[in-house]
Amino acid sequence: MALQVQTHTIDGIDVLVIGGGIAATFAAIKAKQAGARRVVQVDKGTVGKTGNSCFAAGVIHVCFPEDDLDDRVLRLTRAQGYLAQQDLIRDHLQESHVILEELRRYGVHLVMNTDGSYRRMAGRGAYPIVQFFSTQLMDSLRKYAQSIGVEQINRLYLTDLLSRNGEVTGAVGFHQHSGDFHALRARATVLATGSTYYKSIHPGQRDCSGDGFAMAYRIGATLGGGEQNDQPANAMPARVDVGPGMNKWMGEGAYFLNSKGERFMVRYSPKLKERSGLPQIVAFFCIEARMGRAPIMMDARHFGPEQMGRLYQMLPLPQREFESVGVVQDGKFRKTVEFCPTGPTTRPGVVVDRDYASRTPRLFAAGEACPPSAVVTGLAAAATSGARAGTSAARCARDAGDPGDENGQVGELRERAFAPLARPEGLESEHVLLELQEAVIPYDVLLLREGRRMARALQRVETIRDQDLPMLGAYDLHYLRLCHEVKNLTLTAELTLKAAIERKETRNILREDYPFTDNVNWLKWIRVRQEGGEQKWWTEDIPIDTYPVAPKREAELAYLWKMARDQGVVSVKDGRIEWASE
Ligand SMILES: Cc1cc2nc3c(=O)[nH]c(=O)nc-3n(C[C@H](O)[C@H](O)[C@H](O)COP(=O)(O)OP(=O)(O)OC[C@H]3O[C@@H](n4cnc5c(N)ncnc54)[C@H](O)[C@@H]3O)c2cc1C
Repeated sequence: MALQVQTHTIDGIDVLVIGGGIAATFAAIKAKQAGARRVVQVDKGTVGKTGNSCFAAGVIHVCFPEDDLDDRVLRLTRAQGYLAQQDLIRDHLQESHVILEELRRYGVHLVMNTDGSYRRMAGRGAYPIVQFFSTQLMDSLRKYAQSIGVEQINRLYLTDLLSRNGEVTGAVGFHQHSGDFHALRARATVLATGSTYYKSIHPGQRDCSGDGFAMAYRIGATLGGGEQNDQPANAMPARVDVGPGMNKWMGEGAYFLNSKGERFMVRYSPKLKERSGLPQIVAFFCIEARMGRAPIMMDARHFGPEQMGRLYQMLPLPQREFESVGVVQDGKFRKTVEFCPTGPTTRPGVVVDRDYASRTPRLFAAGEACPPSAVVTGLAAAATSGARAGTSAARCARDAGDPGDENGQVGELRERAFAPLARPEGLESEHVLLELQEAVIPYDVLLLREGRRMARALQRVETIRDQDLPMLGAYDLHYLRLCHEVKNLTLTAELTLKAAIERKETRNILREDYPFTDNVNWLKWIRVRQEGGEQKWWTEDIPIDTYPVAPKREAELAYLWKMARDQGVVSVKDGRIEWASE
């Protein structure tokens, strides 16, 4: 395709925020409120209409002043398998209530009691949740950011960060309508580009293609944490394109049944049952599948008018979608719904400190662009981390002076960005994506792990990297974006698999060949960065003795495997899992 495109340079940006989700929008708002004069927020779609945030299912996990803060830190730390940066988790919990108040001030409609207090209701997890009215949240935030002078640029797909002498000095990318190339020079940059589910059945995540991880990796930022997550995957309707809502359906009392009609979550997790955390739900889905007891069905046929009324209020779109396929008729669930885990969510995120500063000067990260150890999954943590990152970036912009120019990088990056357009006959990105999905999405690769299976998946990913990516071709700007996305997803998969193979234990994700949680050798974070064109891997000890919550320094059968063993599903032989069916 012969493109007549121009290169535009935008100078004088104090804080550049990359992303259009809740983390990015909070970062932009807070940078502006902290005194940054020029704050530019860039999204590859439209701010507030992309990524996970705008699809969120009406639920916010907030720590209220009357809650037991220590207990909540303990629970989130455990949910992270003790790999949490506990100081960041505590900051987040303490700030989450402030953020809730701000959401309300910015015009977000939250569910309130008649006396003006927040209505807290049961959801997944031990603490009650706050609810909001679905898509209205991100619309309010976008408009509020605009009202205080945040400049928003939509449809600009950022391909790379700019750097000079080891400092980040902005970013470059192409506009998806005009094709024009943009170089944005900024004193400080916040990366809030979200996570990834490898474009699987999870709604709202096709924009989340690991771009931020790859951009940061290419300029030598330190990444970590891709192999572990408080949310290894989500669980979604398998055959109906209905996404958000599991928390709410489970909160209202829906159950999961295996192919024998058994309510298996009651057996594995008698206390919280279907309201257990996602690591448990995903693990037991996998175990049931491995035992030949899939498909898993959600049953909500017992819901009465009161429950249905609340669902129609909080989740109008999913409910209407259920109606359109006959699952819901005359205001009642009439059929069960098949569920399965989504693609794995893996976050080899930018390693950050308490200010959400990365180890690369002038680069900050927020939300799911950070590793799970720093930012737990969910709107509240994305927002609190965004707020801190924005404030820190404004401070950096004030103190750090102007970035110099980048020594001709823009031309080189432009050439690289447009390269697939010169190969319209090349490989189509969707075919490469399918290959990648086939390598990493099957449940027995990254959700039910085993060293040899992961090594085989890595080999397939490396073949894609070496043989397919150089041949990618694009007919137009739409396909150009898809080429970059699949390239970034391939890197994300490679980094994740390498780290997952390296972590020789089960923490909150099942590993058959290492079923023990090893708190002697594996209270460690795995790190990677690109140095001189090579991947440099290392581990860092978690400063667990300086944190309030610490597990016993011993190796013991992981709690997920114990729950399965207690049900007679598995046993341990020669340090490996043996399945009862074998
Ligand atoms: C279906 C669904 C339901 C959920 N329900 C809930 C819920 O009820 N409650 C809850 O607490 N959490 C929920 N979550 C999780 C929650 O939505 C996420 O944790 C949170 O939104 C993450 O926010 P984020 O800003 O980090 O990322 P995202 O919202 O994913 O934003 C990432 C942004 O980066 C942009 N971007 C990426 N790459 C580029 C690039 N190259 N150039 C420019 N822009 C780029 C994307 O367009 C997007 O705007 C849900 C998630 C999903 C998918």
